[in-house]
Amino acid sequence: MFNDRIILGAQYFRIVPPSDEWAHDFRRFREIGLDTVKIELIWNQIERRPGVYVWDEIDELMARAHARKLKVLATLPMETVPDYVVREANARVVIAMGKEARQELPIQRYLGGVIRQYCCWDAPQLRKRMAAFVKAAVSRYRNHPALLCWDVFQEVDIPECACRHTTREYQAWLKAKYRDIGELNRIFGEHYSSFEEVEPPYNRSFEGQAFLAYTRFRTDCLAGRIKWLYDLAKSCDRKHSVIVHGHSGTLQYVGCGVDDWKIAGQVDFYGASMHELLYQPMHANQALFSKAVAHLEIMRSVSRNDNYYWVSELSCGAAFGGPDTHRRLNEGELFFNLWTCLAHGAKGIYLWQFKPERFFHWETPYAWGLTGLNGAETFRTREFKSFQKAVRANEELFASMRPPQSEYALLYSPDSHTTCDAKGCFSYPAAFFGAVNLLWVNNVQFDIIRYAKEIRGYRIIYCPMPWLLDQSILSALIAYAEKGGIVIADGGFGRYDDNNWLSRETPGGGLAARLGVVETDFTRLEEKVEFRFGNGRKIYGCQERGRLDAGKNKVLARYTDKNEAVVECRCGRGKFVFAGASVSSCYEKSTDVRMAEEWIRFCGFKPSLDVKPLGKVTSRLQQSGGASIVFLFNHGLERASASCQPGFGFKKAYVLCGEKVSLKHGLEFSVSLPPKGVAVVKLT
Ligand SMILES: [Zn+2]
Repeated sequence: MFNDRIILGAQYFRIVPPSDEWAHDFRRFREIGLDTVKIELIWNQIERRPGVYVWDEIDELMARAHARKLKVLATLPMETVPDYVVREANARVVIAMGKEARQELPIQRYLGGVIRQYCCWDAPQLRKRMAAFVKAAVSRYRNHPALLCWDVFQEVDIPECACRHTTREYQAWLKAKYRDIGELNRIFGEHYSSFEEVEPPYNRSFEGQAFLAYTRFRTDCLAGRIKWLYDLAKSCDRKHSVIVHGHSGTLQYVGCGVDDWKIAGQVDFYGASMHELLYQPMHANQALFSKAVAHLEIMRSVSRNDNYYWVSELSCGAAFGGPDTHRRLNEGELFFNLWTCLAHGAKGIYLWQFKPERFFHWETPYAWGLTGLNGAETFRTREFKSFQKAVRANEELFASMRPPQSEYALLYSPDSHTTCDAKGCFSYPAAFFGAVNLLWVNNVQFDIIRYAKEIRGYRIIYCPMPWLLDQSILSALIAYAEKGGIVIADGGFGRYDDNNWLSRETPGGGLAARLGVVETDFTRLEEKVEFRFGNGRKIYGCQERGRLDAGKNKVLARYTDKNEAVVECRCGRGKFVFAGASVSSCYEKSTDVRMAEEWIRFCGFKPSLDVKPLGKVTSRLQQSGGASIVFLFNHGLERASASCQPGFGFKKAYVLCGEKVSLKHGLEFSVSLPPKGVAVVKLT
């Protein structure tokens, strides 16, 4: 890791541009303020014949980078399988589930083979060739003075596959987990004679137990694949960091076969693509923008041990795919996105890309480019230069930032995600992203947690649609409540048991009997349902409606038909709050700040910074070297005058980015923010 620095780099093409442009481009890197060039070592461009590697282009790119004092992030995009390996290994993915189940997927090829889907990594011959390539590449450049770090797989992914190789891996995984086929039969509700008979499931909803096991297998499998690549690279180069980077918006787009926490545990540190800032109209819709914030907070969560992660791909502009997928990046938005990444803890940012790729454009300025195709400056170039200047002026301060200890946590439950996904008509991501939006727009800072060992030290733990919590999480939540913690269950708590069978009662895990509360009726909701509190205030829930029999517990809110909707149950020194519907799901797409504020206040969350006007201006608080750093973002298209009460005293306020700041009584400061403006203020 590179602790006293913020790494600022840019991708320099997958399809290598004409070599007569390299010298000029690398000089421009330096002029613009980039310090690192990200180069892809495209497997099929290098291994043109079996075992024969052609390194000329990479040799020259490395040498030219070094000559300009640029560092190189060397990426191995392992999806770039050479044609001969595709033929030799016959590594085709077989569709596991749905109508087309057990059909081979055709192998796709884009951009001269720099992207190639769908090869199955479980094919032994593919693995053998891949291992040889990784070792050859790492050995060749491990002592190169320009080398910064290895990124051995990008946008890690694993498809649902039922080929014979994957099936064999799955059987071995089941055998290791259950040992005895009788145990598997009991858990799956099946009647197999041996593990060799078990195939990947054909569907999600009617083989829920097998689907859960198969999904857990896939996340383990992906983590294993990353460990394998990491070990291969490390066996040749112990000196440099070896990393991978994940998809953009993992929980949203790829679903539950990817577990960022498990993957991040296999490498020196982790990275993320952030193209989702383009995939949706996030700058036109603030609720959508919160998904980018969620993604960054997930990265911070998976990197909590050392507080270090990179944004490995941040789009500089639209490329192709149509107006609904890739959006134009308007003036000011790259600047805004760069500061958003930094404010949420990224310690390195790589722009995608330095220049446009020469294939297809959707709008001007061309495809993804920080500069024009001829290297000319664009408004994005100017925005980046301004950002990097402010960062370099306070680099150590930004590099050692940490958020203050949080009192609140949001629990991510991968099994609840899988279970909701299996039903086909419930969305776990809606509840999870809605909860992030709720907290973020109200300036409540929180941690995202994932493991039982993290369930401590918080005042409140919010659980979006906690349908399936494994035994370790359940026990930890109960122990946490007994010691005085508050658990808020946003929807059916423990509706399913550890193996995806329905719990006898909801809340599950024995809590219904223990706390004297039980769900008596359950419906899936198409529309919102209203909760009314005793004081006449109301909010909404959606996706599910559970009617609760509160017993002797306190009823906090009722549905319009007077049935119990929100119930508070004492548990030791703390409490559980059960909501019959998912409140947070209503905020996946909503920007109704007043309604959000109501639920936030009801739950007991307090903002880290009191910022006005609430909603259009969001904030982030960080600490570094005894100073507090406040980031303020104006999401609106009109100038905003924001005032901020940090809740602690300060003597001086320094502007690190933005316009003049005015102080009031050493407790409050105010700044004027232009449309899409950013202010960064250091308080001492
Ligand atoms: Zn396979």
